[in-house]
Amino acid sequence: MKKRTAKCGTESGYQRHHRLGETACRACLDAKRDSNRRRYIISRSKHVLEKGVNLPALTVARMYLLSPVDVQLELDRIIAPDVVDELVRLHDHYVDLTRKAS
Ligand SMILES: [Zn+2]
Repeated sequence: MKKRTAKCGTESGYQRHHRLGETACRACLDAKRDSNRRRYIISRSKHVLEKGVNLPALTVARMYLLSPVDVQLELDRIIAPDVVDELVRLHDHYVDLTRKAS
């Protein structure tokens, strides 16, 4: 069976160059840079999360309702269903009251 070769333009490609003692090509350098940046963003977001992210509930509800379905599904895995229901109820109630007032 033929051994799979890491493709250029991927982090594995970058590592292959490194293993072979080669200078990485531009595509692999870019892939490695992007990978490092993604890791940095994930690390920073975890740090921010540890500090606590506090947003007004109505803002969270609005963000949830305006999100595409794939993002809503991701949020559904993170936020308890009863909390999502309550946020949406609060949001809808607020919107109704705002409409009445105008
Ligand atoms: Zn390469």
